[in-house]
Parts: sequence; C-alpha cells; structure tokens
Amino acid sequence: MPAPYWPQTALLHDHGDGAMPIGGILVQLQMMAHMIIDPRRNYTQIYRQRFLDVHSNIIEAFSHINKLLQTRDALYLAAWNHVTIRARQGFRYDEVMFAPQYHRVGGLTPKEVVEALVAGIKKAEEGFPDMEANLLFAIGRELRPKKAIQLLKVLEQCDRRYVVGANIVCDENKFPPERHRKTIEYADSAEINIEVHASEWVRRPKQAPDFERDLPMLIKNLRVVLDLFRKFKSKAKKRLGHGIALPYDPDSMNVVLGNQIGVTGCPGSNLQGCNIPDLKSLRIREMLRRGVLWSINPDDDFFHPELNEVFQMCNDEYRFTEEEKRKLLLNPWLSRFGNRKKHVF
Ligand SMILES: [Zn+2]
Repeated sequence: MPAPYWPQTALLHDHGDGAMPIGGILVQLQMMAHMIIDPRRNYTQIYRQRFLDVHSNIIEAFSHINKLLQTRDALYLAAWNHVTIRARQGFRYDEVMFAPQYHRVGGLTPKEVVEALVAGIKKAEEGFPDMEANLLFAIGRELRPKKAIQLLKVLEQCDRRYVVGANIVCDENKFPPERHRKTIEYADSAEINIEVHASEWVRRPKQAPDFERDLPMLIKNLRVVLDLFRKFKSKAKKRLGHGIALPYDPDSMNVVLGNQIGVTGCPGSNLQGCNIPDLKSLRIREMLRRGVLWSINPDDDFFHPELNEVFQMCNDEYRFTEEEKRKLLLNPWLSRFGNRKKHVF
C-alpha cells in the first residue's frame, strides 16, 4: 500500500549524506570523482548495502557516500540537489546537516566546505523562493572537544543567516555526550544554536538489541546533555536528536518542557536500527500530551524509511487524533533554528 501524503512542511533532522536526494545523483558524483561507472550495476542498491553492512561503525557506513563529496563542485551539487528535491516534495523549511570534517580529503578547509554547501543552498532557493533551507554544521563526536571547538569557531565565521547551528553526531556508544561538555558549553558562550544526538543508541558493536538493558544508559546520556542545556546563559536554541529515553525519565521531561528544548524524533531510523523494540516504546502520545516539541523526521531517508512511510508506521501504532496531528505538523516549525524568511504555518 502506498504511504499517504503526510503534509509536514518543515524538516529538522536531515543528514545530507544519507538523504534520499543524494541517491538520485550518485552516478554524477561518481563521475565527478573520476570513478569508473558500470551501467549494469544498481548503485542505489550497492550504496544501501554498504551502509547496512557496517552499521556498527557509523562513520564507515557513511564514508562510501562521503568519498564522493570531497570537492567544491560535488558539495555544491549535493546541497543544490538536496534543497531542490526537498522543495519539490513540498517542504518549505529544511535544516540539512553536513559535517565538514568528513569532506576534507581533497584539501578543502572546513570553511571552504561550508561555503560550497551554502552556495548550493542559495542557488536552489532562487528556484524556490518560498523555501528556507539552512545548513546545520555537524560535528562528528569522535573529535576531541578542542578540535570540535575549533570547528565551532569556524562556524562563527560562516554566513550565519544560512548556517543556523551545530549538531553533535555519530557514535554515541563509543563517544558518549560527556566527552563534549566543553563543546556544548562553548556553543552557549558563543550563542550557537545546538542540537546533540543523544539517547539514540548505546549498544556495543555486535551486541544484541535489548532496550531494557540499554535504558539506564540512554537516560544517563540524556541527563548529561540536559544538565548542560539547563545551565545555558545565552539565547542559543537547544535540541535533542532522537532522545528515545525522554518519556522514561520525569526529571528530563521537566527540563525539556521548562526550557523549550525541541526533540527531533526519527522513529523509522530507530526501528530499522533495532534501537527500539517497537514504535510504542517511543511513547509519542505522552510527549505530545505533555507539550514536548517533538517532531517526526526521517534521519537518513536514503537508507531509512522516508517521512510519509514513517508517519504511516507511527499512525498505524498510535491512531493519532486531529489535535495530535496538528502538533506533529507544528512542532518542527516551533523548534527550528533558522528564521530568515516569513512563513505561514
Ligand atoms: Zn541523525
């Protein structure tokens, strides 16, 4: 059965190197990277397979696509294509994530990476004036805080109208949030909007999924980030990426509600990655009832289910009321980082 059209118009958790739009330009990117193309091969399938094969090592999983995104031209094309496709899908607001540190093999500086991406975004917006697309400057958490702070300082020198914040991403098991206390504190001192992927997955490579076993650690990671967020002195906006354990920890729930912290949920990705046993474990209804600014996002819709499908899966489980649907459509708008254009939502 085809997924119904889910009229969400803002997207907040959207990794450019794992998103559906990149799948449409793989061959162009391969040609630009001077790779030999075999027309008999299905590259979409090949890249998806490579991603799924090494899911325990998230950096390696994304490296196959990132190998193709090492020049200004490739980054420009990827950003332009991403925003164009999202606009054609009906989105009017999108925060696309790229981590400059993974695009430096060709000798580009992090600032040059950002400039190429922002140029692509601007070009795409010319064709879709109602669309506001912004770059979220992702930071792979394997970096030491000193390096991560250096990257935040680069972000400060970029075009802040289009580079609306940072996002700490990647391997939460190996590099839990406490590693980046100083990075998060720096974001506050420099008034940089920040999302942290936290409470997504903590199981070790090759460990069998077990939500009950992982729950205390997922709560612990959540508390580390929220404790830092709670102490923010600046007006920087704050969000959690995933935040699976949130409805299981009343204290965390209070911090999120009291500080207007958005939560970018990615149910399809969580389920496919076996980080939750089922969709009811996310307790979406409870979060919406309490007023958490929780939104549905695809995470990586080249590899994971796309948004319509994710909504359908969730709706099959929860049978959302009209009021709940209204909140789901509004929450991504209320918790966005950018605000460059006037929107009616
Ligand atoms: Zn993510």
